[in-house]
Amino acid sequence: MTTGTKRILVTGGSGFLGSHLCERLLSGGHEVLCVDNFYTGRKANIIHLMENPYFEVMRHDICFPLYVEVDEIYNLACPASPVHYQFDPVQTTKTSVHGSINMLGLAKRLKAKILLASTSEVYGDPTVHPQPESYWGNVNTIGLRSCYDEGKRCAETLFFDYHRQHGLKIKVARIFNTYGPRMLPNDGRVVSNFIVQALKGEDITVYGDGSQTRSFCFVDDMVDGLVRLMNTTDDFTGPVNIGNPGEFSILELAERVIELTGSNSGLSFKPLPSDDPRQRKPDISVARKVLGWEPSMDLGRGLEKTIGYFRKIV
Ligand code: NAD
Ligand code: UDP
Repeated sequence: MTTGTKRILVTGGSGFLGSHLCERLLSGGHEVLCVDNFYTGRKANIIHLMENPYFEVMRHDICFPLYVEVDEIYNLACPASPVHYQFDPVQTTKTSVHGSINMLGLAKRLKAKILLASTSEVYGDPTVHPQPESYWGNVNTIGLRSCYDEGKRCAETLFFDYHRQHGLKIKVARIFNTYGPRMLPNDGRVVSNFIVQALKGEDITVYGDGSQTRSFCFVDDMVDGLVRLMNTTDDFTGPVNIGNPGEFSILELAERVIELTGSNSGLSFKPLPSDDPRQRKPDISVARKVLGWEPSMDLGRGLEKTIGYFRKIV
């Protein structure tokens, strides 16, 4: 191994975010082991990396123990779209809880640094706006989103207990809505749904009255934030919000997508799913201060890049 080269495990590495992260780590000169059970991930996302001798793929479900030798672990495995994580809710919670226990156990044996891809969903339907890391959240324990929200909250607890009890070097990222190329066309999340519908000339499905808000971060910015977090000094654990503070209503997003695709799609209003958060916007002062990070891609340019990707595959 050359100096500075690390062996890095990315769980969920064939998914949307994971595949971009693998690419970025390889281009930084590292060896990457992508572990994925291909639940929502696809070989197509990583096929272009397969020729690289420093890239390795292992089909494995992290709910089961894993014995490999690495220096760092990015734990991203977990379906992220409400449609997918609600399809098999018990498996979703298992992935966050059993999966985290297995990956933390691995990190403990290896004395490796480990990062958790947590989520803004730990804030639930927030009563504080924008959301700082100090906010404890407003989460339903028994609703349709709970398998994901509570799974990630428990994963955060496990990370901090392994840190306190076993001295593990942990990093917890709270990721806000992220979009970009390689989202699945049937992913179910709002950006991919709207773009695919607009490109097909179908009605755009707005849930509720579309006044609920989200803050959308382009994938390259997100990956940059995650890598910066992993490279912080050992005393910094997070949690840290990583997301774009630009806040848009879902109706505004629909209008932007229609405008940028030049589509003549109309809007079709559907019932709001239960427990759908009313508003979401990250307070990123910690990321700015500690990671020296802030997003550089505005929504318009990010959507253009994402639309370009979907034009090729839809
Ligand atoms: P994704 O569904 O595209 O990727 C998840 C990957 O994990 C897939 O490749 C899937 O096959 C794999 N996976 C799922 N369960 C697994 C298991 N038990 N064992 C091994 N692999 C498994 O989702 P994404 O958007 O790339 O999200 C990646 C991570 O980031 C997730 O942990 C998600 O919770 C978190 N996150 C994402 C967003 C976002 O907006 N994209 C927001 C908040 C948090
Ligand atoms: N949404 C929508 N139409 C869709 C998909 C989603 O109006 O076709 C709404 C959804 O109800 C939510 C927001 O868009 O208010 C973001 O949904 P997404 O599933 O992308 O992520 P969430 O932040 O809810 O996990």
